[in-house]
Amino acid sequence: MTSSVWHPFTQHGLNEPIPQVVRAEGALLHCADGSTLIDAISSWWVTTHGHCHPRIVAAIADQAARLDQVIFAGYTHEPAEAVARGVIDIAPSGLQHVFFSDSGSTAVEVALKMALGYWNVVDSRRVSILVMEHSYHGDTIGTMSVGERGAFNRAYEPLLFDVGTIPFPVAGSEQATLDALAAACAAKPAAFIVEPLVLGAGGMLVYPTWVLREMAAICARHDVLFIADEVMTGWGRTGTLFACEQAGVSPDIMCLAKGITGGAIPLAVTLANGRLFEAHRSTDRARMFFHSSSYTANPIACAAAAANLAIWAEEDVLGRIATLSAAVADRMAALDGAIFANPRQIGTIAAIDLVTDDRGYLSTLGPELRAFFLERGLLLRPLGNTIYVMPPYCTDAGQLTCIFDAIAEAGAHFA
Ligand code: PLP
Repeated sequence: MTSSVWHPFTQHGLNEPIPQVVRAEGALLHCADGSTLIDAISSWWVTTHGHCHPRIVAAIADQAARLDQVIFAGYTHEPAEAVARGVIDIAPSGLQHVFFSDSGSTAVEVALKMALGYWNVVDSRRVSILVMEHSYHGDTIGTMSVGERGAFNRAYEPLLFDVGTIPFPVAGSEQATLDALAAACAAKPAAFIVEPLVLGAGGMLVYPTWVLREMAAICARHDVLFIADEVMTGWGRTGTLFACEQAGVSPDIMCLAKGITGGAIPLAVTLANGRLFEAHRSTDRARMFFHSSSYTANPIACAAAAANLAIWAEEDVLGRIATLSAAVADRMAALDGAIFANPRQIGTIAAIDLVTDDRGYLSTLGPELRAFFLERGLLLRPLGNTIYVMPPYCTDAGQLTCIFDAIAEAGAHFA
């Protein structure tokens, strides 16, 4: 029977039947057929502490009974105020203003509009955006425009705007990236947007902290706004709360989503420094920031985010992340180097490339690997021949063993 639900990034001609998940707890998903899956990619990188964290669940229930939703244009509420205060407290210095939205894509769209809005209100004709090769920033029109062009967005090309692209800083050729950025900045673009330290959907490509630091410095020298898209890297994934911290970088604009609620409910924020906010602040209504969405700063989602912030403030989350990262590193080191190439890890994000000629996102290998892992009770979603893990921080040693045993078995089977 044809599915009436149209799923994202799913080929319904190939991927049915689709497993139905009925319950989740910690690192586990329980399915309607009685099977259990280890959520080895945190359900697309959103779940941080674990599914259905009791403190977050309780905050959602409590808030839902008191204030479910209220217009956010011209009104405010304590859960949003608490999240704004809390995020500013822990964010890189200088980020003093918080604009709410509801997904990583919208956080990036807001960032791009803030950047162009800024140059517009200060009366400077800076309109172009610089991006890094292999980037992924979302699937809306603006975020596709600033992402890698290819199978994901070829059909929508007529809707996308032009951007300037600098090369990914391949190990040994980092200077070429920095030189390209400096040259592109000289043409006075509005902003440069980048995923700090690791490019996610582009293949879990890791680059060093000094490159991130240098890129931010080049942008500062040319007065190009530096936008850090921490939608994937934020909330501890790279071993620190935010990846920018490792490079000592304070971006002009920073995008957060996914783990902001611990991964329980959609919410996103775009943080901006005082310069951007003050340029828009005026008695002239024409200078306001023209962006909104019906559910901006939904109180239930904000209550979940406030509970997440309390967990970060009161529990040793970074300690848990360090322990998990070390255990992942041990398992990665044990994988067969003849079968797996390019091992890379940053914090709890680890990836390897299966040595095979069958590669690329649209190769059959990705779905075959996915099915292989599903049969072994694992939610893994390789990007072509790149197998990566990004487990919730509560993942235990036994679960890690299951994950890496299956990866080793997949290597022997598919390589
Ligand atoms: N930016 C980055 C770096 C991401 O990894 C993603 C999603 O994976 C997005 C933006 C888009 O986020 P969302 O899927 O919540 O729209």
